[in-house]
Amino acid sequence: MAGPVPNARSRRIEESVTLAIMAKAQRYKAAGKNVVSLAAGEPDFPTPGPIADAGIAAIQQGRTRYTATSGVPELRQAGALWFRTAYGIDFAPEEVMACAGAKAALHMALHTVVEKHDNILILAPYWVSYPALVTLADGNPIVLPAVPDEGFVHSAAAIDAAFRQHQARGILINFPNNPSGAVPSRAQVQAFVDVAKAHDAWILSDEIYGSLLYDGATHVSPATLPGGRERTIVVNGFTKSHTLTGWRISFLAAPRPVIEAAGRLQSQALGNPCTISQEAAIAACKQPLTSELERRMQAFDGRRRYLVDEINKIAGLQLQAPKGAFYALVDVRALCKRLSCDDVAIAERLLEEQLLAVVPGTAFAIPGFIRLSYAASMDDLRAAVTRLRAFAAGLS
Ligand code: PMP
Ligand code: GLU
Repeated sequence: MAGPVPNARSRRIEESVTLAIMAKAQRYKAAGKNVVSLAAGEPDFPTPGPIADAGIAAIQQGRTRYTATSGVPELRQAGALWFRTAYGIDFAPEEVMACAGAKAALHMALHTVVEKHDNILILAPYWVSYPALVTLADGNPIVLPAVPDEGFVHSAAAIDAAFRQHQARGILINFPNNPSGAVPSRAQVQAFVDVAKAHDAWILSDEIYGSLLYDGATHVSPATLPGGRERTIVVNGFTKSHTLTGWRISFLAAPRPVIEAAGRLQSQALGNPCTISQEAAIAACKQPLTSELERRMQAFDGRRRYLVDEINKIAGLQLQAPKGAFYALVDVRALCKRLSCDDVAIAERLLEEQLLAVVPGTAFAIPGFIRLSYAASMDDLRAAVTRLRAFAAGLS
């Protein structure tokens, strides 16, 4: 006999495409296939020793119990200091809370500010989970089409028009951007803030790649700009810069009423984020590990340059140099035309025929593109380029 079925909301939510492709690539590897996976946005470097050691010490010294649900006071203090030192954002410790990863921080934030049926603007290309996270919070995601010809940064006029048309309550932005690598200038960020202020809207700013920058780009948080502080909700942490991917820990920072409300939600839905990971995050806040981070950035930059050079040599493929994060958003529109297919088919064929896992741009609302993560070894990148070349040349 068939039992009851899951509800309508859960049926509307699809599995994360990035995670599904990562899982498929892993299954192929486990089956002995020589898959090169550039699907995952996860650094190939380990969690740095001093940070991992802080977690180990927490276990060994018995600090493994429940904590305050928004994070231990020492972490909230260290987080506030880190936001100020690293990004010039002035939050008090009571305006910073610990969450179980950036994804969970976004979830808590959206549940805290979105009213039922509120329209929330999302700029394409966007990270795959945004529309689903807005839907889960009972809001309506409104996607602004991508602007590849404008370096993937929307004009204030386009955003203003969307606010007017949809009476939107907020905008969800992500710079440096996953998947485009776009980093707007200070003036562009100020223009976003001005538009949001004119509509008295929230800015939910996902800054998880805030320290991964190239070619002299700087990251400007809307929370540091005039008119931004009172309406910006910042998500940031060490997931990408320090490989805390599996530790599930990050920060949510916002005006006090938001953090108090989000803290109440978290106390009911999660309890506290992992106690051991909180200790690791305290260590990350307190020790800049400057030389380790420089080493990582040099490696990412070398890989980025390699991909830009090599991919632009392949007929049918184009790549604008990303300014931040660790993704190459490759324009495959010419290839799609030649093969009479779309980016989803190209990503599928790359995996099946060339054993190369990438994510189709359609998952990020940028059809005609594919995303390659260069948080991968040079060996993998070289193999990936060889396979792309073979595919584009029709040798598969
Ligand atoms: N935001 C963006 C833009 C991301 O790419 C990711 C990928 N992990 C996340 C949030 C989620 O990060 P976390 O692993 O800390 O939940
Ligand atoms: N954020 C990473 C990515 O875009 C990890 C996967 C995920 O959480 O979606 O690949």
